[in-house]
Amino acid sequence: MQVCDGIISADFIVTQNERREIVRDGAVAVRGARVAAIVSRVEAERDWAPAWRRSLGRAVILPGLINAHTHAPMTLLRGLADDLPLMEWLNKHIFPCESGLTPRMLEVGTALACAEMLSCGITAFADMYLNERQIYRTVDKIGMRALVGEGLFSFPSIGYADPAVAFDLAREQAGELAGHSRLRYAVCPHSIYTTGPEILEKSAALAAELDLPLHIHLAESGEETRMSLEMYGCRPVEVCRRAGILGPRTLAAHGVDLLEEEMELLAQNGVSIAHNPRSNMKLASGIAPVPALLALGCNVCLGTDGAAGNNRLNLFQEMSACALLHKVFSGDPTVLPAQTALDMATLHGARALSWPELGRLAPGGPADLAALDLASPGLTPLYNPVSQLVYAAGGHEVCLTMVEGRILYEQGRFSSLDYRELLLEARQLALLCAGNAA
Ligand SMILES: [Zn+2]
Repeated sequence: MQVCDGIISADFIVTQNERREIVRDGAVAVRGARVAAIVSRVEAERDWAPAWRRSLGRAVILPGLINAHTHAPMTLLRGLADDLPLMEWLNKHIFPCESGLTPRMLEVGTALACAEMLSCGITAFADMYLNERQIYRTVDKIGMRALVGEGLFSFPSIGYADPAVAFDLAREQAGELAGHSRLRYAVCPHSIYTTGPEILEKSAALAAELDLPLHIHLAESGEETRMSLEMYGCRPVEVCRRAGILGPRTLAAHGVDLLEEEMELLAQNGVSIAHNPRSNMKLASGIAPVPALLALGCNVCLGTDGAAGNNRLNLFQEMSACALLHKVFSGDPTVLPAQTALDMATLHGARALSWPELGRLAPGGPADLAALDLASPGLTPLYNPVSQLVYAAGGHEVCLTMVEGRILYEQGRFSSLDYRELLLEARQLALLCAGNAA
């Protein structure tokens, strides 16, 4: 008999391994924070002696999804202002509200984001925000996995009164997380238009010195390009190239307004692009040239962006939006097949976060997974599990989410947070947020 902590069995296991194997009537054995084995249900019952079992039956188990770009506390601003031009939305609603965010609001907004992400199968995310320490301490308590970083600007933020100390703060935060199993740090210059060449160069130097990933908003819209030409006399990708921040550990969010040669440069330098289709559509930022980037060998992953602009942190919605958007835009229904969308939300996300062992289920790998109840309305019959995950599932069918071997969400219940309390406080704090925005 083999010993392990837990066994979860289901009709299908979508492993996302190199062969994209799907195990029928399978089971995942979990030992500590890792997957001990993936075996048949029969073997799991015959050869393994776990402390606990979950026999999910008509369900599919998949690697935990990876949200490669978000701003967790913005859940508190969800639906505060919609259907507005980008600059009016930012300047009249989002920025005034953000300047009034208290440490407690950041904690509550982050917990709300974690609850939402766990409930739809997300186990890891890349976050960039203000006063990031409040955010990662909350994520740590809840038990999710994240690549976090303090947003670096050329002006004061609620994270620091003086931009001169921003790099010291980032260095301190990176030091605090060194060696953590679930939290890693990225240097996060916010964008080319909120920083400048000096901050971008210092960001590249800090990332190189501490061997950290770098996360930035890049080429989000035609408006950003216009501002870049005015401020620096060149386009956003060129600003980044000159500052030395285009490398294999760089995660660039959006990549919407790109020329052919810029796409080639990003691909050649191994830059990962986080595509945020619903945020881009809702804010009318444009359509990222995802099929062309993929064809060039660029690592394109998926993100939700913040909940103020999306308005959900749900990668099932993003996978389907991504596939549909690029089919209609190209006029070719064979573009961006379901398997590619799922790869973007798992394997590509893992690479983008510089955390390549994530995004797949394999013996010895991290026990980060989600399970969907296939008896949920809308998922029967089932011919192809991957098609069902991308085109039919909405995220609400997720019945179990595990991070590092711990079940954090199961059948509507969260094991590491008091959801009812959280909702009450979030509603109260939202009243204050709305007051700040008015
Ligand atoms: Zn963003």
